[in-house]
Amino acid sequence: MHTFTYIFLLFLAAHVAVQLWLARRQVAHVAAARLSVPPAFAGAVTPQEHTKAADYTVAKQRLGMLEVAFDALVLLWLTLGGGIAQIESLVGMLGAPSLVTGTLLILAVFGWVSLLSLPFGIYRTFSLEQRFGFNHTTPAVYAADLAKGWALGLLLGGLVAACVLWIMSALGSSWWLGGWLAWTVFTLALTWAWPRLIAPLFNKFTPLEDSTLRSRIDALLERCGFHASGVFVMDGSRRSSHGNAYFTGLGREKRIVFFDTLVSRLAPPQIESVLAHELAHFRLRHVPQRIVVGVLASLVGFALLGWLARQAWFYSSLGIPEASDAAALILFLLVAPVFTWLLTPAMAAWSRRHEFQADEFAALHSDARSLAEALVALYRDNASTLTPDPVHSAFYDSHPPPAARIERLNALLEAASAAPARAS
Ligand SMILES: [Zn+2]
Repeated sequence: MHTFTYIFLLFLAAHVAVQLWLARRQVAHVAAARLSVPPAFAGAVTPQEHTKAADYTVAKQRLGMLEVAFDALVLLWLTLGGGIAQIESLVGMLGAPSLVTGTLLILAVFGWVSLLSLPFGIYRTFSLEQRFGFNHTTPAVYAADLAKGWALGLLLGGLVAACVLWIMSALGSSWWLGGWLAWTVFTLALTWAWPRLIAPLFNKFTPLEDSTLRSRIDALLERCGFHASGVFVMDGSRRSSHGNAYFTGLGREKRIVFFDTLVSRLAPPQIESVLAHELAHFRLRHVPQRIVVGVLASLVGFALLGWLARQAWFYSSLGIPEASDAAALILFLLVAPVFTWLLTPAMAAWSRRHEFQADEFAALHSDARSLAEALVALYRDNASTLTPDPVHSAFYDSHPPPAARIERLNALLEAASAAPARAS
């Protein structure tokens, strides 16, 4: 066996072990606190709601553990087990030009991966989410979503794969620079076009009509000097009763989107404070920072792939008998996560910093108390655990633990109410 085969197996084993260990910690921690509502949430979350959130978190975590093991087996089958090589020889029987064969191979491998994960998706929606009363999706809507998702994946994935494969064959050894450029243009175009062209395929977006809420929101946007191309309500309740709000798009195509489930449950001041938090991610340049980091990371990725694609051992050590551009792309996309997971805690910590900053911005431009109320309502209605394991949370969570966020907001409130007293 090649040395890199051992390195790959070692990192994969470590990844699986760390994921399962963290999941077990989370399950144990959440289950232990199942019967006692943390003091900070005592008035707002009932013991029944708290227990439900704990059971929901544990159920999701258990399913996740099964998926971790399953995904590792699929990866082993595709690589060392010769799965990609088998699919390659099947696709090769078509006798098509290499650009077509390469594109088909990429689509076939990722098609297989998504087909294999389908049972987990179906179980999650129709058993797990159903059991906890969150699922509103019918099998018909689910099937339509899948069909649209796959058609989109085939179209966009096929387009990108063909484009990168063509660049690889046409530009010689410095192809990776051209590939990176094409990838960057594609992702930016997709981010820009998503709210207008793709999101409406799955959901209905209607301009926010509620006039009192509308004027509150317009005043907030004015105060923050923010221009968006519209405030929309999305029919999230068609699929699930989970609520959320988000910003989407780039430049003039920026949109503010509220789930109808959130609008129906929160009062206008709370919705305003959630919006102020989302706005902060743009005003404090979190969004452009993330885009720049993503673009730079993909540059590193393409440079690495440019080098790896020329190494014979890259293919042979991962179960591919013959080197090809398409195989290099597939291997890279499948195997990179086996190494990049080590960056997860750093990225999560960076994101949590942004979340604290956005909360602070919202407290300043809207209202800390309303935001705290809104967060508690969202945690409660989404059955998010209030008692995550600290290690699990530090490793994965893009948002700080609920208690930490509420504590920060309360501290800001106290500081704000103390300041005028000192002045007088
Ligand atoms: Zn945020």
